[in-house]
Amino acid sequence: MSFQGKVAVVTGGARGIGRAIAAELAAGGATLALVDVLLDVAETTAAEFRAQGVEAAAFAANVANPDDVNRMCDEVIARFGKIDLLVNNAGITRDNLIMRMKESDWDAVIAVNLKGTFNCIKAVTRPMMKAHFGRIVNIASVVGVMGNAGQANYSASKAGVIGLTKTAAKELASRNITVNAVAPGYIQTEMTEKVSEAAREAFLTNIPLGRGGLPEDVAKAVRFLCSEDAAYITGQVLHVDGGMVM
Ligand code: NDP
Repeated sequence: MSFQGKVAVVTGGARGIGRAIAAELAAGGATLALVDVLLDVAETTAAEFRAQGVEAAAFAANVANPDDVNRMCDEVIARFGKIDLLVNNAGITRDNLIMRMKESDWDAVIAVNLKGTFNCIKAVTRPMMKAHFGRIVNIASVVGVMGNAGQANYSASKAGVIGLTKTAAKELASRNITVNAVAPGYIQTEMTEKVSEAAREAFLTNIPLGRGGLPEDVAKAVRFLCSEDAAYITGQVLHVDGGMVM
């Protein structure tokens, strides 16, 4: 699976699932643009990739801010000439039951997870359309499909990402740009370390394959959807959840 000559933007690429996605794409030869709110966080990861011989650079952007995102995309194109692959992975949680959820926590999660994905898709649309090529993969979640008590903001944002994926797929298909989503289940990262022991147990008993997923499990699905092998797949949601939702 070759990404030789391809430039990949991975938001939230400094750690967790984003970092694993970046590693998979780099293993296929992609040049990496790692995006994080803080430049030094992304730069540490980019330097680690460069030490392995990967062409990689760090870019600062809060994906919730369209000006930041537009500037970041301009910087990536100035540095690497183009953007072929976009992985919208940056995401946050601010969990609480609806009756206790603060408006600011609702707004923050929608702003990063849903508007952030929109901002990045919008920013790459023009260069990808001009190039008549693009692969966009949005990281959704199983809770965007099945809901989850305590995650009204997060599940709504991820359900929104799925709707956005399908619409973008329809708008961009004629220019050879595919847009798909990956819906991870319970994946072991810093994000899920915050989950209570009881919630963790509940998740695990509902996974037919009997284990939590690894960031690499998600990364391999993203790699496939970015590849030439997935050229005829668009507007789809690929679950990587050990069978949790079927
Ligand atoms: P982490 O919290 O480990 O990593 C999230 C990354 O996103 C971090 O690098 C973080 O940067 C970055 N980020 C957060 N906010 C912004 C922002 N406003 N602008 C730019 N970057 C930002 O999360 P995971 O690796 O676990 O999750 C990655 C994605 O997968 C998310 O979209 C998440 O919703 C989704 N997902 C995860 C699941 C899981 O079980 N872990 C399950 C289903 C979906 P910083 O280091 O600065 O905080």
